[in-house]
Amino acid sequence: MIKLEQVHKYFHKNHVLKGISLTVAKGEVVVILGPSGSGKSTLLRCINFLERPTSGIIQIDDLCVDAEKAHKRDIVSLRKYTGMVFQHYYLFKNRTALANVMEGLVVVQKLDRKQAEQKSRQLLEKVGLGDRLDYYPSQLSGGQQQRVAIARALAINPKVLLFDEPTSALDPELVGEVLSVIKQVAEEGNTMIVVTHEMNFAQEVADHVIFMDDGVIMEEGTVEDIFHHPKEERTKQFLQRVN
Ligand code: ATP
Ligand code: MG
Repeated sequence: MIKLEQVHKYFHKNHVLKGISLTVAKGEVVVILGPSGSGKSTLLRCINFLERPTSGIIQIDDLCVDAEKAHKRDIVSLRKYTGMVFQHYYLFKNRTALANVMEGLVVVQKLDRKQAEQKSRQLLEKVGLGDRLDYYPSQLSGGQQQRVAIARALAINPKVLLFDEPTSALDPELVGEVLSVIKQVAEEGNTMIVVTHEMNFAQEVADHVIFMDDGVIMEEGTVEDIFHHPKEERTKQFLQRVN
């Protein structure tokens, strides 16, 4: 379970998150939609303190962190509890696919190399890269690199997976393979928050949809509510623009 209460974020005088509260149940997939600059990435980054929220409470299972009083050990725990997949994969360029996935297992989870390697192999097989273990990022397509990044995020068994526009940097023909891996991960009961502009995919995976605008949750509900019966004018405009 993940729960945010009244999360605010300022960048200097710029009030980017204006009191975001939301709850994601275990196994639930929440999709966040919204125009550019509405604060979607900042919100995801505040959950694991890649950006420190200015105020508010971040709770993941038993760990409840007040942003204004967060200790270093809280932040370390939040990072262990979250797996993040970014638009630009951020793999280590001088390491193979296998070594990239192993990294967190060896460094964070302190598994011995043999166990870490076995688990990493399994994860790479799961994302369809069993035959690319020894490839370096430069030898992989964008879609393959993003699948390595997904395997890496899964490796530490995070309590929540955060996806920030995982396919928006990909060539169109590579989007499908990455979305289908994410869909599979969703179907396996992982708790996920996904920021995406892929509207068909959003409707397929979401248990709950949030529409953000200008730092607030403007509207939220089921796929049916948001995509077929949006109430707010801003939501309607947004959906018309992207469709
Ligand atoms: P997009 O769809 O384009 O990715 P977004 O909804 O993810 O947009 P954010 O990246 O969260 O939007 O940005 C929200 C606001 O916060 C923007 O006005 C942006 O300029 C500002 N912002 C984001 N990161 C920083 C930062 N590190 N320093 C200063 N301002 C920032
Ligand atoms: Mg963003």
